[in-house]
Amino acid sequence: MIQTNKASVSLLDMDRSALAQQLKDLGEPSYRSKQIWDAIYLRYATTFTEITDIPNSLRKNLETRLQISPIENVMIQTSADQSTSKCLMKLHDGEVIETVLMRYDPLGRKQARKTICVSSQAGCAMKCSFCATGTQGYRRQLTSGEMLGQIHAMAKLAFQEGSPITNIVFMGMGEPLANYGELHKTLTRITDATDMAFSPRRVTVSTVGILSGIRKLTLEHPTINLAVSLHAPTDKLRQQLIPVQTASISEIIATVREHIEITKRRVSFEYVLIAGINDLPKHATELATLLRGLRCQVNLIPLNPVDGVKGKRPSRRRTLAFESMLESAGISVTVRAEKGADISAACGQLRGDLLGPRPLLPTDN
Ligand code: SAH
Repeated sequence: MIQTNKASVSLLDMDRSALAQQLKDLGEPSYRSKQIWDAIYLRYATTFTEITDIPNSLRKNLETRLQISPIENVMIQTSADQSTSKCLMKLHDGEVIETVLMRYDPLGRKQARKTICVSSQAGCAMKCSFCATGTQGYRRQLTSGEMLGQIHAMAKLAFQEGSPITNIVFMGMGEPLANYGELHKTLTRITDATDMAFSPRRVTVSTVGILSGIRKLTLEHPTINLAVSLHAPTDKLRQQLIPVQTASISEIIATVREHIEITKRRVSFEYVLIAGINDLPKHATELATLLRGLRCQVNLIPLNPVDGVKGKRPSRRRTLAFESMLESAGISVTVRAEKGADISAACGQLRGDLLGPRPLLPTDN
């Protein structure tokens, strides 16, 4: 468990100039702000005690007024194969959110891939029928500091292991585009060259399809990857899986088309495969027709069974058949398996990044 201190204002909520102002207000010389900034963002300090290059009196003073991260404490569970760490993060008001760190083998790459899966809300209002968070209901929006707090805690873990985070995906609890204001602040801070300077091409936002949010992303964050959770080729079926509909499939596709035209980027569609529900050959044919000509990639996610949630993961044979039907129709497609099943990081919310094909997990038949 990583303990962090708890006052009410968090430094992760402040950008560089706000931090500088804060220290100026305390009568500190201007170089202190750089010392503190470097301690937080280069060495991932979570307590003032760790910032040993500033005077003890200042550390004590800051401790009484401020906290570094709004995350109160972090409980980390790592899977037996070490590939996945699932973290439960407690917030000041007792809400608990999940963040996952996934480690991928280098497989010929120079550096291992490490992806953080970030939550954007405590709970979720979308009620997706197959999703663990959906069944728990909506609690509240997360602040930008709370999103950055998750990234900071996971980046610290990665740093301590000796290799940095390479990808950030907003695919944890919640619907990121239903919290656009705080998401926007977070994305800006992550990618701004004068701030955390993380490559936007390694950041992905996954949405159930909130059109106004997609349009804002297109204009304000055109180099960030967009993933849309489609899950069905027809509105009727999609309505069953995602009861809180925000738009029709044709409106979603039209908005994605605009996004691709403006950003010139490829969009991902996520499709959770549920046995007998949306994995039939006719669904693959309909999906291929829907996506024909669109610069996109389909990520098939065999359902992760969740307690109290109906639905089964399809067999491996069925999954591969669905994949090859899309492939033969000229659609770029990958099948992804969940990581860290033994620690239930594969709870459905906290799932893999936009990586290539992974071996499938054992299935029910
Ligand atoms: N609200 C956003 C992001 C959170 S969910 C969205 O809908 O995209 C991230 C992804 O996990 C979504 O594609 C979601 O459909 C998928 N997911 C949720 N529950 C799942 C489950 N039980 N098995 C497999 N994938 C699941």
